[in-house]
Formats: sequence, structure tokens, C-alpha cells
Amino acid sequence: MGKMRLDKYLADMGLGTRSEVKKFLKGGQVTVNGGTVTKPEFKVDPDTDEILASGEKVAYEDFEYYMLNKPQGVVSATEDSREKTVLDCIVSKKRKDLFPVGRLDKDTEGLLLITNDGALAHRLLSPKKHVDKTYFVRLRENLSQEDSRKLCEGVDIGEENLTMPADITGFVPGDRQCCITIREGKFHQVKRMFASVGNEVVYLKRLSMGPLILDEELKPGQYRKLSAKEIERLK
Ligand code: URA
Repeated sequence: MGKMRLDKYLADMGLGTRSEVKKFLKGGQVTVNGGTVTKPEFKVDPDTDEILASGEKVAYEDFEYYMLNKPQGVVSATEDSREKTVLDCIVSKKRKDLFPVGRLDKDTEGLLLITNDGALAHRLLSPKKHVDKTYFVRLRENLSQEDSRKLCEGVDIGEENLTMPADITGFVPGDRQCCITIREGKFHQVKRMFASVGNEVVYLKRLSMGPLILDEELKPGQYRKLSAKEIERLK
């Protein structure tokens, strides 16, 4: 990574807006390699310089990665004038360029990755990559063996093609719940698939996306940073 302005460095790491950071710098609270720096345009090297704000080290991170257990009633957007967004859930975020990787419906719960790593998001969302997404589904009606088979083979949801082969697991014929793994990400796909066999999804929760599995410790609305291993597996 090349050199960057000190005010951007500090703003990226969540110390405030650029103008707040400028004021903070004027107060003489920031040191670079031991020397006080008050100029916002001062160039720092994020890889080698040691930057302290009020005596505390501020390490630079290019990317943030959060796993959110999205609660119902929250929209998968970065900003919304009326509704609470998934980004509002990440209260400890530093960067302002975070976004959700894909969307879950407002009434869907479960795994949502939130990051500012655009290349990673692109890889996970690319229709060509067919990344597995597994959902837990509760249904209005009992699911028959026949309907389960149809859903696995591919159903007509009003798109150009039938849905791609899916897997249904954890299902006993006649149950009103199961898990389904799909490899596409069409709008309302899971709901439309079950609707196509005359059923209705009454509760939907995403359990996994590619190698990333929802941490069972996270209650709806809770989140945590991804571990280094989890990030590695996604790359
Ligand atoms: N499929 C749906 O219908 N809704 C979601 O939120 C995700 C997948």
C-alpha cells in the first residue's frame, strides 16, 4: 500500500469525519513515529509508520469483514431514509464504505457478510461461480416427497430457465421444514421456488454462503468480525 494523508488514515479507521479529524489533529493528540503531527495533509505509510491517537495505537486495516445474523425487519441496504439497515446493526464499524454482500429480504434472518472488499463480494456474487447458499425454511404446508424432488431438479419461477439443481436436506416427507441449498441468487428465489409447488415460506434463515457458516452463538441482530481463517477460506 502506498503513502496516504494522515486525515484520511484516521477517518478510515473510524476516528471521525475528515473535518472532525482535522480538528482533532490541531489539538496535538496524534503522533507519527513518536513526533506530534498536526497537519492533515501529512503523508504516512500505513505499512511502516506507527500512529498513535491520544496515546493509543491506530493500526490501518484496508478491509473489514463482519458476519451478521440479520434480524427480521431490517433492510439489506447501506442507507435508507425510513428503515433500519443491516449497516446500522454494525455499530463498531470503522470504514464508511462497507456494504452487504448480497441481499436478504426484510423478513429473512441469518448469515450476511458485510465488508468493503469489493473483489471478494464480486467473486461470491458472480452468477458464474455458483456459490452454495443454504437456508433453513419453515413452510405453510407439508412438503411432499414429490415436491421435494421437483425443487431439487429445477422448477419454473418465471425466469428464462428452470432453477438450477438444488439440494434439500434435513427433511422427512410430510414435514413443514427443511434446509435447501441453492447455487443461484435470483430475487426472492427460495420463496418463489416453494411457491412454484403451491407452498409458502413462512420463515427463512440463511445458514451458510460458500465456506462461511453462520456462528450459532450470534443471536439475531448480533455480529462479529470474521476470523483470519474464515477470511482465508473465502479467498
Ligand atoms: N430467497 C428468498 O426468497 N429470500 C431471501 O431473503 C433469500 C433467498
